[in-house]
Amino acid sequence: MPELPEVEEYGQYFARHALRRKIARADVRDERILGEVRKETFARRLRGRMFTAVRRHGKHLFVQAGDAWLHLHFGMTGDLAFYRDAAKEPRFARVVFDFADGSHLAFDDMRLFGVVDLIDDPDAFIAAHRLGRDPLDPKFRLADFRELIAKRRGAIKAMLMSQGVVAGLGNLYVDETLFVTGIHPKRTKLSDADVGAIFTAMRKIVRKPNRKLPREEGDLCPKCGGTIKRAVVAGRTTYFCAKHQK
Ligand SMILES: [Zn+2]
Repeated sequence: MPELPEVEEYGQYFARHALRRKIARADVRDERILGEVRKETFARRLRGRMFTAVRRHGKHLFVQAGDAWLHLHFGMTGDLAFYRDAAKEPRFARVVFDFADGSHLAFDDMRLFGVVDLIDDPDAFIAAHRLGRDPLDPKFRLADFRELIAKRRGAIKAMLMSQGVVAGLGNLYVDETLFVTGIHPKRTKLSDADVGAIFTAMRKIVRKPNRKLPREEGDLCPKCGGTIKRAVVAGRTTYFCAKHQK
């Protein structure tokens, strides 16, 4: 499943290949991928436009095209493919943008859990869906994070998984953050130092996803030699070190 760092990469890929090319046709091959927008409206509003700016918030990607924004969510198997030769069209292309210069961009999604939509305003979308802060937003400060955490109760893992606190931080990244900071996923009380450590670790992990926590019960902790345990926290399979995560 594409996690936040992969969605960041899709955004860079989109920007590198598909900005500032005139859209000759926005062809919806499978309407099941569409969100609210109708196929005809989608095609009509994008025809003749250019994509001009890419923006990511959590696992959502927004691309400006005139007065509309393309909204992409990659679900389980969503992917982007840019190509010049039409024979290279990916097998599960659900939407294909044909550019006037003969190149193409496809949104490919085998399992159809992704979404392609057209919206008017990403800020309104973020507010309507009550999405929390993006962990990589340079304007997201420790003080903001402290304020968000202070308003909530319950296990730290559940708080970090809540999209209303931090948008797009998946299960693996939350486990890794708690592993690195030595905090037990079920902890409910956090010191100021803990909150600061979580904030720093979370942003670092999302930026450089090299994971250290083994996801196998009974494995040895690479940090302290303790035993890796498995539990269900916030409805999700959780791995943690029984020795150094307190
Ligand atoms: Zn350990």
